[in-house]
Amino acid sequence: MTGAVHIIGAGLSGLSAALKLSASGRRVVVHEATAFAGGRCRSYYDASVGMTIDNGNHLLLSGNHAALDYLRDIGAADRLIGPPSAEFPFVDLGSGERWKLSFNDGRVPWWVFDSRRRVPGTRALDYLPLARLLRAHPGKAVGEVIRCEGTLYRRLVEPLLLAALNIDPPQGAARLAAAVIRETLAAGGRACRPLVAREGLSATMIEPALETLRQRGGELRLEHQLRGFCFAADRVEALDFGSETIPLGSGEAVVLAVPPYAAVSLLRELTAPTEFRAIVNGHFRIDPPAAAPAILGVLGGTVEWIFAFPGRLSVTISAGDRLIDAPREELAKAVWGEVARVTGLPPTLPPWQIVRERRATFAATPAQDARRPGPQTRWRNLVLAGDWTDTGLPATIESAIRSGSRAAGLVAKVAE
Ligand SMILES: Cc1cc2nc3c(=O)[nH]c(=O)nc-3n(C[C@H](O)[C@H](O)[C@H](O)COP(=O)(O)OP(=O)(O)OC[C@H]3O[C@@H](n4cnc5c(N)ncnc54)[C@H](O)[C@@H]3O)c2cc1C
Repeated sequence: MTGAVHIIGAGLSGLSAALKLSASGRRVVVHEATAFAGGRCRSYYDASVGMTIDNGNHLLLSGNHAALDYLRDIGAADRLIGPPSAEFPFVDLGSGERWKLSFNDGRVPWWVFDSRRRVPGTRALDYLPLARLLRAHPGKAVGEVIRCEGTLYRRLVEPLLLAALNIDPPQGAARLAAAVIRETLAAGGRACRPLVAREGLSATMIEPALETLRQRGGELRLEHQLRGFCFAADRVEALDFGSETIPLGSGEAVVLAVPPYAAVSLLRELTAPTEFRAIVNGHFRIDPPAAAPAILGVLGGTVEWIFAFPGRLSVTISAGDRLIDAPREELAKAVWGEVARVTGLPPTLPPWQIVRERRATFAATPAQDARRPGPQTRWRNLVLAGDWTDTGLPATIESAIRSGSRAAGLVAKVAE
């Protein structure tokens, strides 16, 4: 017997589970606490800049195969744009130097042997110690496995791991750093092409997913927050939404796809990450210079990445906890000062917005990584999803989407 599957949370993990299940003919109902789908990956109209912007710049890589499968499923793969090959322009604010990292397509890293493609100021041999990360003990931190200093670290390893793990790299879990390197640098340039949702995150990843879900008979209930579970022996018997209780028949199941702090408030005995790191984004309404690359790495300042969108420049600062309480206008001015230096645009502050997501991702330390649960619970019709469940990846779109697919696969078995 196959009954409905109730998915709690309309972030990417919940949507990915809903799409997989509905594609196989299951009836799905997605319950979302807020008034919008997308969770931490969404767009909204911002009055300060007078345009629709994303809550944060999101970068995908061409090796994010689950995310690309998801986009193909919803007919939106062509909405991600990026250069034809894996190229990353950088600028160093301290020295004024500019260079372009340019990976070759195949798995053999020829780029390391080519001084025009690799990081300036490095030698091929400098890259060898990175292999140690791939063999690191799961409980180790990056800083215990490799030397976190020197030109290669500052110009490649630090920006890569800071962006992917959202933590000061020496503190990051070596296991997660290894997964990133395995799926990017070690997989060759074909897996490293940067991809950006130029028309916005919602138009690319969320709205087409909701439309596909509707076509497959799925239902989305917004402003419908789960308040509690009613358990009976080894299964969830009903879902408590406050004003409404939904009983679950045999063969019906639940995918809990909420952030870890919400999951723990619903399942008190759950072990889950308890520490988080912030991401700060600055958005500036201004036409980028014609030659501005879609994404530019910045070293030696506060800004880490500059994204160029039509009519807007946006910056990302990972592990931005130190900036959470900084006065907004001062921060906007400081950030714009760096952007103006790098782009040659006038120093006058254009219309701006600063978005600070305090709990952007769980803190990717070895200790927090060890608190990530698998998808199964002791209730046979309740499965977990979310970028924070143990996917072996840091908290990213790819992790969220893989967790949703995995949960869908397990739910399919509940009905057997
Ligand atoms: C600023 C920022 C920048 C980022 N940059 C990148 C990037 O460049 N590349 C990348 O790959 N990843 C990036 N990420 C991470 C990525 O956004 C997340 O990994 C992903 O969106 C998480 O999806 P999720 O479904 O696991 O969780 P969420 O998106 O948190 O979804 C959970 C949903 O559950 C809902 N919910 C909570 N409680 C309840 C309840 N009781 N009942 C019903 N619904 C509930 C929430 O409202 C939410 O909609 C970034 C994140 C942020 C915040």
